[in-house]
Amino acid sequence: MNNYFIILASGQSKRFNSKKPKQFNIYKNKALFKHSLEKAIESKLFKKIILVINNKKSIKEKSPKNVLVIKGGKERSDSSLIALKYIKKFKPTNVLIHDAARPNFTIRLLNNLIKSLKNNKAVIPAINSRDSIKYKIKNQLFNLNRNNSFLTQTPQAFKFKDLYKLSIKQKNKITDEATLFIENNQKIKFIKGENLNNKITYKEDVENNKTYVGIGFDIHRLIKGKRLFLGGIKIPFHSGLKGHSDGDVIMHSVIDSLLGAMRNKDIGTFFPDNQKKFKNIRSPKMLKPVIEMLDKNNLCINNLDINLICEQPKVSKYRYKIIKSLSNLLGIDKELINLKGKTVEKLGLIGKEKAIACEVICSITQ
Ligand code: ZN
Repeated sequence: MNNYFIILASGQSKRFNSKKPKQFNIYKNKALFKHSLEKAIESKLFKKIILVINNKKSIKEKSPKNVLVIKGGKERSDSSLIALKYIKKFKPTNVLIHDAARPNFTIRLLNNLIKSLKNNKAVIPAINSRDSIKYKIKNQLFNLNRNNSFLTQTPQAFKFKDLYKLSIKQKNKITDEATLFIENNQKIKFIKGENLNNKITYKEDVENNKTYVGIGFDIHRLIKGKRLFLGGIKIPFHSGLKGHSDGDVIMHSVIDSLLGAMRNKDIGTFFPDNQKKFKNIRSPKMLKPVIEMLDKNNLCINNLDINLICEQPKVSKYRYKIIKSLSNLLGIDKELINLKGKTVEKLGLIGKEKAIACEVICSITQ
Protein backbone atom coordinates (compact mmCIF):
# COMPACT_ATOMS: atom_id res chain seq x y z
CA MET A 1 0.00 0.00 0.00
CA ASN A 2 2.55 2.56 -1.06
CA ASN A 3 -0.15 5.00 -2.21
CA TYR A 4 -0.14 8.75 -1.75
CA PHE A 5 -3.04 11.13 -2.17
CA ILE A 6 -2.51 14.78 -3.12
CA ILE A 7 -5.41 17.18 -2.64
CA LEU A 8 -4.99 20.46 -4.50
CA ALA A 9 -6.84 23.12 -2.52
CA SER A 10 -4.82 26.22 -3.26
CA GLY A 11 -6.62 27.41 -6.39
CA GLN A 12 -7.48 31.06 -6.80
CA SER A 13 -11.10 30.32 -7.72
CA LYS A 14 -11.34 33.19 -10.19
CA ARG A 15 -14.73 32.04 -11.42
CA PHE A 16 -16.03 31.66 -7.88
CA ASN A 17 -17.35 35.01 -6.78
CA SER A 18 -16.55 35.02 -3.07
CA LYS A 19 -14.14 36.63 -0.61
CA LYS A 20 -13.34 33.33 1.01
CA PRO A 21 -11.32 30.92 -1.16
CA LYS A 22 -13.66 28.39 -2.73
CA GLN A 23 -12.07 25.43 -0.95
CA PHE A 24 -13.00 26.92 2.40
CA ASN A 25 -16.62 27.66 1.56
CA ILE A 26 -19.19 25.55 3.34
CA TYR A 27 -20.61 22.83 1.12
CA LYS A 28 -22.98 20.21 2.55
CA ASN A 29 -22.23 21.35 6.10
CA LYS A 30 -18.44 21.46 5.94
CA ALA A 31 -15.59 23.23 4.18
CA LEU A 32 -15.40 22.05 0.57
CA PHE A 33 -11.87 20.54 0.83
CA LYS A 34 -12.82 18.48 3.89
CA HIS A 35 -15.04 16.17 1.86
CA SER A 36 -12.04 14.96 -0.12
CA LEU A 37 -9.75 14.84 2.91
CA GLU A 38 -12.16 12.84 5.05
CA LYS A 39 -12.92 10.36 2.27
CA ALA A 40 -9.22 9.80 1.64
CA ILE A 41 -8.67 9.13 5.35
CA GLU A 42 -11.72 6.89 5.58
CA SER A 43 -10.61 4.81 2.59
CA LYS A 44 -7.46 3.70 4.46
CA LEU A 45 -5.81 3.37 1.04
CA PHE A 46 -3.07 5.94 1.56
CA LYS A 47 0.17 6.03 3.46
CA LYS A 48 0.12 9.80 3.40
CA ILE A 49 -2.38 12.44 2.33
CA ILE A 50 -0.95 15.77 1.23
CA LEU A 51 -3.21 18.76 1.45
CA VAL A 52 -1.92 21.65 -0.66
CA ILE A 53 -3.29 25.05 0.38
CA ASN A 54 -2.43 28.75 0.06
CA ASN A 55 -2.21 29.63 3.69
CA LYS A 56 -1.28 26.98 6.23
CA LYS A 57 -2.71 29.15 9.01
CA SER A 58 -6.20 28.71 7.59
CA ILE A 59 -6.27 25.13 8.89
CA LYS A 60 -6.88 25.58 12.58
CA GLU A 61 -7.60 22.10 13.85
CA LYS A 62 -4.89 19.49 14.21
CA SER A 63 -4.69 17.05 11.31
CA PRO A 64 -4.31 13.29 11.72
CA LYS A 65 -0.73 11.99 11.64
CA ASN A 66 -0.81 10.80 8.03
CA VAL A 67 -2.11 14.15 6.73
CA LEU A 68 0.56 16.66 5.72
CA VAL A 69 -0.37 20.24 4.96
CA ILE A 70 1.89 22.15 2.56
CA LYS A 71 1.80 25.50 0.79
CA GLY A 72 0.98 25.47 -2.91
CA GLY A 73 2.14 27.58 -5.83
CA LYS A 74 0.63 30.20 -8.08
CA GLU A 75 -1.03 27.90 -10.60
CA ARG A 76 -2.52 24.46 -10.27
CA SER A 77 0.41 22.89 -12.11
CA ASP A 78 2.86 24.64 -9.75
CA SER A 79 1.07 23.26 -6.71
CA SER A 80 0.99 19.79 -8.18
CA LEU A 81 4.73 19.86 -8.86
CA ILE A 82 5.50 21.23 -5.38
CA ALA A 83 3.55 18.33 -3.87
CA LEU A 84 5.25 15.73 -6.09
CA LYS A 85 8.68 17.07 -5.17
CA TYR A 86 7.66 17.05 -1.51
CA ILE A 87 6.66 13.38 -1.46
CA LYS A 88 9.62 12.17 -3.53
CA LYS A 89 11.57 11.48 -0.33
CA PHE A 90 8.96 8.92 0.75
CA LYS A 91 9.59 6.91 -2.45
CA PRO A 92 5.93 6.48 -3.37
CA THR A 93 4.81 3.81 -5.83
CA ASN A 94 1.44 5.31 -6.70
CA VAL A 95 0.11 8.80 -6.44
CA LEU A 96 -3.42 10.12 -6.88
CA ILE A 97 -3.93 13.79 -7.63
CA HIS A 98 -7.25 15.34 -6.83
CA ASP A 99 -8.89 18.76 -7.08
CA ALA A 100 -10.55 19.73 -3.81
CA ALA A 101 -13.32 21.30 -5.90
CA ARG A 102 -14.68 17.79 -6.56
CA PRO A 103 -16.16 16.76 -3.23
CA ASN A 104 -18.55 14.09 -4.47
CA PHE A 105 -16.36 11.18 -5.63
CA THR A 106 -16.80 7.84 -3.90
CA ILE A 107 -14.31 5.59 -2.12
CA ARG A 108 -15.28 2.98 -4.71
CA LEU A 109 -13.72 5.21 -7.37
CA LEU A 110 -10.48 5.39 -5.34
CA ASN A 111 -10.39 1.60 -5.17
CA ASN A 112 -11.02 1.26 -8.91
CA LEU A 113 -8.27 3.74 -9.75
CA ILE A 114 -5.70 1.96 -7.62
CA LYS A 115 -6.73 -1.44 -8.93
CA SER A 116 -6.35 -0.29 -12.56
CA LEU A 117 -2.99 1.23 -11.78
CA LYS A 118 -1.49 -2.26 -11.44
CA ASN A 119 -1.26 -2.59 -15.22
CA ASN A 120 -1.15 1.06 -16.24
CA LYS A 121 0.93 4.16 -15.74
CA ALA A 122 -1.95 6.60 -15.75
CA VAL A 123 -5.59 5.95 -14.90
CA ILE A 124 -8.12 8.70 -15.45
CA PRO A 125 -11.82 8.67 -14.61
CA ALA A 126 -13.91 10.07 -17.46
CA ILE A 127 -17.55 10.42 -18.34
CA ASN A 128 -19.33 11.15 -21.59
CA SER A 129 -20.69 14.63 -22.01
CA ARG A 130 -24.43 15.09 -21.58
CA ASP A 131 -24.29 18.18 -23.77
CA SER A 132 -23.23 18.53 -27.39
CA ILE A 133 -19.78 20.01 -27.68
CA LYS A 134 -18.64 22.48 -30.31
CA TYR A 135 -15.01 23.19 -30.96
CA LYS A 136 -13.66 26.40 -32.43
CA ILE A 137 -10.40 26.79 -34.30
CA LYS A 138 -9.89 30.37 -35.42
CA ASN A 139 -13.30 31.14 -36.88
CA GLN A 140 -14.31 27.69 -37.89
CA LEU A 141 -16.66 25.63 -35.76
CA PHE A 142 -16.56 21.85 -35.46
CA ASN A 143 -18.99 19.41 -33.94
CA LEU A 144 -17.39 16.93 -31.61
CA ASN A 145 -18.91 13.50 -31.73
CA ARG A 146 -20.38 13.05 -28.27
CA ASN A 147 -19.53 9.36 -28.15
CA ASN A 148 -15.88 10.07 -28.74
CA SER A 149 -15.65 13.02 -26.36
CA PHE A 150 -14.73 12.53 -22.72
CA LEU A 151 -14.88 14.78 -19.75
CA THR A 152 -11.98 13.92 -17.48
CA GLN A 153 -12.34 14.07 -13.73
CA THR A 154 -10.12 13.75 -10.69
CA PRO A 155 -8.77 11.90 -8.71
CA GLN A 156 -6.31 10.84 -11.39
CA ALA A 157 -3.97 7.99 -10.57
CA PHE A 158 -0.36 7.54 -11.67
CA LYS A 159 2.76 5.53 -11.15
CA PHE A 160 4.78 8.12 -9.26
CA LYS A 161 7.98 7.69 -11.27
CA ASP A 162 6.28 8.26 -14.62
CA LEU A 163 4.29 11.27 -13.51
CA TYR A 164 7.30 12.82 -11.79
CA LYS A 165 9.44 12.48 -14.89
CA LEU A 166 6.87 14.27 -17.05
CA SER A 167 6.03 16.90 -14.44
CA ILE A 168 9.54 18.23 -13.92
CA LYS A 169 9.95 18.64 -17.70
CA GLN A 170 6.64 20.42 -18.13
CA LYS A 171 6.88 24.13 -18.95
CA ASN A 172 3.30 25.07 -19.89
CA LYS A 173 0.40 25.50 -17.51
CA ILE A 174 -1.77 22.41 -17.50
CA THR A 175 -5.23 21.95 -16.09
CA ASP A 176 -4.80 18.31 -15.13
CA GLU A 177 -2.15 15.59 -15.19
CA ALA A 178 -3.94 13.64 -17.93
CA THR A 179 -3.02 16.55 -20.22
CA LEU A 180 0.62 15.93 -19.44
CA PHE A 181 0.39 12.29 -20.55
CA ILE A 182 -1.53 13.18 -23.71
CA GLU A 183 0.93 15.93 -24.69
CA ASN A 184 3.77 13.47 -24.30
CA ASN A 185 2.02 10.71 -26.26
CA GLN A 186 1.90 8.43 -23.25
CA LYS A 187 -0.77 5.84 -22.78
CA ILE A 188 -3.71 6.57 -20.54
CA LYS A 189 -6.23 4.11 -19.20
CA PHE A 190 -9.68 5.65 -18.94
CA ILE A 191 -12.06 4.19 -16.40
CA LYS A 192 -15.67 5.05 -15.76
CA GLY A 193 -15.98 8.32 -13.86
CA GLU A 194 -18.93 9.29 -11.74
CA ASN A 195 -21.78 11.54 -12.87
CA LEU A 196 -22.06 13.02 -9.40
CA ASN A 197 -18.33 13.76 -9.24
CA ASN A 198 -18.92 17.24 -10.60
CA LYS A 199 -16.65 20.18 -10.08
CA ILE A 200 -17.72 23.07 -7.90
CA THR A 201 -16.83 26.04 -10.08
CA TYR A 202 -19.36 28.79 -9.51
CA LYS A 203 -20.85 30.11 -6.31
CA GLU A 204 -24.23 28.81 -7.47
CA ASP A 205 -22.86 25.26 -7.35
CA VAL A 206 -22.54 25.61 -3.60
CA GLU A 207 -25.65 27.67 -2.98
CA ASN A 208 -27.73 25.22 -4.98
CA ASN A 209 -27.34 22.67 -2.29
CA LYS A 210 -28.45 24.73 0.64
CA THR A 211 -31.52 23.41 2.39
CA TYR A 212 -33.47 25.23 5.07
CA VAL A 213 -36.34 24.18 7.31
CA GLY A 214 -39.08 26.31 8.77
CA ILE A 215 -41.70 25.75 11.45
CA GLY A 216 -45.18 27.23 11.71
CA PHE A 217 -47.86 27.12 14.40
CA ASP A 218 -51.34 28.62 14.63
CA ILE A 219 -54.46 28.33 16.73
CA HIS A 220 -57.91 29.90 16.29
CA ARG A 221 -61.05 29.80 18.36
CA LEU A 222 -64.13 28.06 16.88
CA ILE A 223 -67.29 30.15 16.75
CA LYS A 224 -70.81 29.48 15.53
CA GLY A 225 -72.05 31.17 12.41
CA LYS A 226 -68.74 31.23 10.56
CA ARG A 227 -67.63 29.03 7.69
CA LEU A 228 -64.72 26.68 8.37
CA PHE A 229 -61.74 26.87 6.04
CA LEU A 230 -58.87 24.39 6.32
CA GLY A 231 -56.02 24.15 3.84
CA GLY A 232 -57.74 26.63 1.53
CA ILE A 233 -61.04 24.80 1.18
CA LYS A 234 -64.42 24.99 2.89
CA ILE A 235 -65.14 22.11 5.25
CA PRO A 236 -68.74 21.41 6.31
CA PHE A 237 -68.85 21.95 10.09
CA HIS A 238 -71.08 23.51 12.75
CA SER A 239 -68.56 26.28 13.50
CA GLY A 240 -65.83 28.29 11.83
CA LEU A 241 -62.53 29.74 12.98
CA LYS A 242 -62.55 33.21 14.45
CA GLY A 243 -59.97 35.64 13.16
CA HIS A 244 -59.24 38.84 11.32
CA SER A 245 -58.87 36.70 8.20
CA ASP A 246 -60.63 33.42 7.35
CA GLY A 247 -58.86 31.79 10.32
CA ASP A 248 -57.45 28.96 8.20
CA VAL A 249 -54.95 27.49 10.71
CA ILE A 250 -53.39 25.14 8.16
CA MET A 251 -52.70 27.89 5.65
CA HIS A 252 -51.41 30.25 8.30
CA SER A 253 -49.02 27.64 9.66
CA VAL A 254 -47.86 26.74 6.14
CA ILE A 255 -47.18 30.43 5.40
CA ASP A 256 -45.30 30.89 8.67
CA SER A 257 -43.19 27.79 8.09
CA LEU A 258 -42.25 28.98 4.58
CA LEU A 259 -41.37 32.45 5.85
CA GLY A 260 -39.37 30.79 8.62
CA ALA A 261 -37.42 28.68 6.15
CA MET A 262 -36.73 31.84 4.12
CA ARG A 263 -35.65 33.50 7.38
CA ASN A 264 -38.13 36.26 6.64
CA LYS A 265 -40.07 37.04 9.83
CA ASP A 266 -43.72 35.94 10.10
CA ILE A 267 -47.22 36.21 8.70
CA GLY A 268 -48.16 39.06 11.05
CA THR A 269 -45.42 41.26 9.58
CA PHE A 270 -46.86 40.96 6.09
CA PHE A 271 -50.55 40.91 7.05
CA PRO A 272 -51.00 42.90 10.28
CA ASP A 273 -54.37 42.09 11.86
CA ASN A 274 -55.01 45.74 12.69
CA GLN A 275 -55.30 46.70 9.04
CA LYS A 276 -58.74 47.02 7.54
CA LYS A 277 -57.69 45.90 4.07
CA PHE A 278 -56.86 42.45 5.42
CA LYS A 279 -60.25 42.02 7.14
CA ASN A 280 -61.75 38.67 6.16
CA ILE A 281 -58.93 38.08 3.68
CA ARG A 282 -58.90 34.52 2.33
CA SER A 283 -55.69 32.71 3.13
CA PRO A 284 -54.80 31.66 -0.46
CA LYS A 285 -54.43 35.40 -1.13
CA MET A 286 -51.96 35.62 1.74
CA LEU A 287 -49.99 32.67 0.40
CA LYS A 288 -49.55 34.20 -3.06
CA PRO A 289 -46.87 36.78 -2.22
CA VAL A 290 -45.01 34.13 -0.21
CA ILE A 291 -44.89 31.83 -3.24
CA GLU A 292 -43.68 34.78 -5.32
CA MET A 293 -40.92 35.33 -2.75
CA LEU A 294 -39.85 31.69 -3.09
CA ASP A 295 -39.80 31.94 -6.89
CA LYS A 296 -37.89 35.20 -6.88
CA ASN A 297 -35.17 33.65 -4.72
CA ASN A 298 -35.02 30.40 -6.72
CA LEU A 299 -36.23 28.38 -3.78
CA CYS A 300 -38.30 25.26 -4.12
CA ILE A 301 -40.26 23.35 -1.52
CA ASN A 302 -38.99 19.85 -0.74
CA ASN A 303 -41.82 18.78 1.53
CA LEU A 304 -44.37 19.82 4.12
CA ASP A 305 -45.43 17.87 7.19
CA ILE A 306 -48.63 19.08 8.83
CA ASN A 307 -50.21 18.25 12.20
CA LEU A 308 -53.81 19.38 12.45
CA ILE A 309 -54.78 19.34 16.13
CA CYS A 310 -58.51 19.01 16.81
CA GLU A 311 -61.20 16.59 17.99
CA GLN A 312 -63.51 17.37 15.07
CA PRO A 313 -63.73 17.41 12.05
CA LYS A 314 -61.97 14.11 11.41
CA VAL A 315 -58.91 14.67 9.26
CA SER A 316 -59.15 11.27 7.57
CA LYS A 317 -62.37 12.36 5.91
CA TYR A 318 -60.85 15.47 4.29
CA ARG A 319 -57.20 14.51 4.01
CA TYR A 320 -57.20 13.98 0.26
CA LYS A 321 -59.18 17.18 -0.46
CA ILE A 322 -56.95 19.32 1.75
CA ILE A 323 -53.73 17.91 0.29
CA LYS A 324 -55.08 18.42 -3.21
CA SER A 325 -55.95 22.03 -2.43
CA LEU A 326 -52.53 22.72 -0.87
CA SER A 327 -50.80 21.06 -3.81
CA ASN A 328 -52.64 23.41 -6.19
CA LEU A 329 -52.01 26.52 -4.13
CA LEU A 330 -48.33 25.78 -3.56
CA GLY A 331 -47.71 24.43 -7.05
CA ILE A 332 -46.06 21.27 -5.73
CA ASP A 333 -46.82 17.58 -6.12
CA LYS A 334 -49.29 15.98 -3.70
CA GLU A 335 -46.64 13.42 -2.75
CA LEU A 336 -44.64 16.17 -1.05
CA ILE A 337 -47.38 16.97 1.44
CA ASN A 338 -48.21 14.94 4.53
CA LEU A 339 -51.21 15.69 6.73
CA LYS A 340 -51.70 14.08 10.15
CA GLY A 341 -54.66 14.45 12.48
CA LYS A 342 -54.02 14.70 16.21
CA THR A 343 -56.62 14.75 18.96
CA VAL A 344 -55.84 15.96 22.47
CA GLU A 345 -57.73 13.43 24.61
CA LYS A 346 -60.56 15.95 25.12
CA LEU A 347 -58.17 18.21 27.05
CA GLY A 348 -58.38 22.00 27.14
CA LEU A 349 -59.98 24.32 24.62
CA ILE A 350 -59.10 22.09 21.67
CA GLY A 351 -60.43 19.02 23.46
CA LYS A 352 -63.74 20.78 24.15
CA GLU A 353 -63.97 21.63 20.42
CA LYS A 354 -63.58 25.34 21.07
CA ALA A 355 -60.42 25.76 19.03
CA ILE A 356 -58.35 24.19 16.26
CA ALA A 357 -54.55 24.35 16.13
CA CYS A 358 -52.03 23.38 13.51
CA GLU A 359 -48.29 22.99 13.23
CA VAL A 360 -46.26 22.64 10.05
CA ILE A 361 -42.66 21.95 9.26
CA CYS A 362 -41.30 22.53 5.77
CA SER A 363 -38.01 22.19 3.96
CA ILE A 364 -36.87 24.33 1.05
CA THR A 365 -33.82 24.23 -1.21
CA GLN A 366 -32.11 26.83 -3.33
ZN1 ZN B 1 -54.09 32.36 11.98
